[in-house]
Amino acid sequence: MSDRFGEKVVLITGAASGLGQAAAFKMVSEGAKLSLVDLNEEALQETKKVIQEQEPQAEVLLIIADVAKEENVKRYVGETVQHYGRIDGFFNNAGIEGKQNLTEDYGTDEFNKVVGINLDGIFYGMKYVLEVMKKQGAGAIVNTASVGGIRGVGNQSGYAASKHGVVGLTKNSGVEYGQFGININAIAPGAIWTPMVEDSMKQMAGDDYGEAAKDFVSVNPMKRFGKPEEIGNVVAFLLSGEAGFINASVIPIDGGQSYKY
Ligand code: NAD
Repeated sequence: MSDRFGEKVVLITGAASGLGQAAAFKMVSEGAKLSLVDLNEEALQETKKVIQEQEPQAEVLLIIADVAKEENVKRYVGETVQHYGRIDGFFNNAGIEGKQNLTEDYGTDEFNKVVGINLDGIFYGMKYVLEVMKKQGAGAIVNTASVGGIRGVGNQSGYAASKHGVVGLTKNSGVEYGQFGININAIAPGAIWTPMVEDSMKQMAGDDYGEAAKDFVSVNPMKRFGKPEEIGNVVAFLLSGEAGFINASVIPIDGGQSYKY
């Protein structure tokens, strides 16, 4: 086991599935102590079980919380600090895609729900974690945006608004907190094969979504979906301390698709 993370404490939201889970697997394999947050208790317990099968010595704290609720966010940050005494890395990642629809049909409730999780959740997370990191005089944050946060995808009003917002928050806070030894970046994944994207394919093509999925990636320069571990590896690099001079940046991880006409 590499010990790039030494005894670093890493807090991850949306840790029970997809990108958050892949990042947890990667960082715990390199010595990180984990605080894993999710709404889905069963999936979170399962994630811990898998980690402890691979890394029996791993320290893994589980916290059930809804990132869209400020009091829940305050609690997950407080419980992490109470348990470990510090937070070195924060993967501020939980999010949903929401229902796909034209703007006029998108629905105000759906818009507010998606923005509440994807944007308010990211803001609350930074608000409480930055307080801790500023006192430490060190720390690193990765916010999960999306290629939908740097260009138009269509049929995703709430998602686009929230992810563009995450990009703005990242640049703003990165500029504010560099002076305190904290670097804050966003990742902008393209289509990565996770339960969220599988659901999205079902929304577009119904249960027989295999062909639609092939079509979907045919325009990608690499002709495939990304793998969750390809995101986990980048997040680990950004939180490891090796990327200390990358700040306020938005890093596309999309096989080059956002640079293609
Ligand atoms: P996923 O559905 O596999 O995992 C998301 C996790 O977040 C789930 O475990 C879910 O229970 C949790 N979650 C959802 N709402 C929550 C809430 N209110 N509070 C706490 N936990 C909550 O999805 P994923 O693909 O791993 O997505 C993770 C992040 O990556 C999201 O922000 C998503 O927008 C972003 N993203 C994903 C892709 C992709 O292609 N998969 C692309 C770009 C961006």
